[in-house]
Amino acid sequence: MTALKLQNIRKAYGSIEVLHGIDLDVEPGEFVVLVGPSGCGKSTLLRMIAGLENISDGDLWIGGQLVNTLPAQKRNISMVFQSYALFPHMTVRGNIEFGPRIRREPGAQIEKRLMDAVTALNLGDYLDRYPRQLSGGQRQRVAMGRTIVRDSSLFLFDEPLSNLDAKLRVQMRAEIKALHQSLRSTIIYVTHDQVEAMTMADRIVVMNSGRIEQSGAPLELYDHPANRFVAGFLGSPAMSMLPASIYQENDKCWAQVSSGEKIALSGVCAEQGRKVDIGIRPEQFTIAQGEAGLPFIVGVVEPTGAETHLVGTIAQSKVHCVFRERVQAMPGSTIRLNVDPQHVHVFDTETGHRIRLRQATEVA
Ligand code: ADP
Ligand code: MG
Repeated sequence: MTALKLQNIRKAYGSIEVLHGIDLDVEPGEFVVLVGPSGCGKSTLLRMIAGLENISDGDLWIGGQLVNTLPAQKRNISMVFQSYALFPHMTVRGNIEFGPRIRREPGAQIEKRLMDAVTALNLGDYLDRYPRQLSGGQRQRVAMGRTIVRDSSLFLFDEPLSNLDAKLRVQMRAEIKALHQSLRSTIIYVTHDQVEAMTMADRIVVMNSGRIEQSGAPLELYDHPANRFVAGFLGSPAMSMLPASIYQENDKCWAQVSSGEKIALSGVCAEQGRKVDIGIRPEQFTIAQGEAGLPFIVGVVEPTGAETHLVGTIAQSKVHCVFRERVQAMPGSTIRLNVDPQHVHVFDTETGHRIRLRQATEVA
């Protein structure tokens, strides 16, 4: 049985539709991250799952039960929001026990749930402290503790880390992932941060303007983005895009950029001269020897210690490369870059859809 099933879910505020038919199946124990730019409809979708927002059209099942009109408190769901409000006059213990006490659970059960949550979240030393005596990350963990003391079938998180500083976010990311690995609960996690999505998810669902663009395992989406939007959204620094046209010469397929240089592609081109965008990830460039390769005009050199980032242009398009080794390059100079044809992505200029070139080994 699926833990959650969305079928053609739509949401309209008045005459404005903000979700245009969302289909999604989530398996029990799965950690699904909904990611997309601000305003694409992530929170609205999560609030509909929680029952805090009504459904304009479509069907929503939780654990096999149709819940379209079931009130929020009957859905057996826990939700953590971006702004988590702890009770300031209650200790960590009081805050975490609050829900189970309200639900009049037996004392021994409350104590067990409290201790399980406190152990999972590493809050054992802070049980008697008040929220004002805790750091931002600790408060966030208490908010999470309040959520996991519930025996919920589904946990919903809406950008829970966005109020934390960068270092804490990285730490909490790992903690939430570890928590999921130990509890094996079903989680739907919303974020606009593609790094959070890549690092935490079993499965990423990329949303854009009220639609799902693509859904799949993080590296599957990274390596095989279905379109230009997903290609550009996942990965930091972003994939570079070069306008080009593709053509076949002898047995090889090439993309020619505006300055006339050619990039070898892996496969066979069906249509000569088709307008495309060539996508290359920053880590896929290598420095060419001699006169071979694409001329890259160096703009900015950013040594990070572990890597060297170069920002510049190829055929007037902005290109970002990352090298694991140290690179000596002068701004304004030209260096030549190679790319393995296997790692060149090709997108249709007009539709943005990925073009899959037929491989020579495939029979026509
Ligand atoms: P996200 O969480 O991805 O940033 P939201 O789900 O909050 O996006 O919003 C999606 C769209 O719906 C936005 O264009 C937003 O302006 C609109 N929206 C959200 N809530 C309301 C509302 N109560 N009334 C009208 N429009 C709304
Ligand atoms: Mg939101």
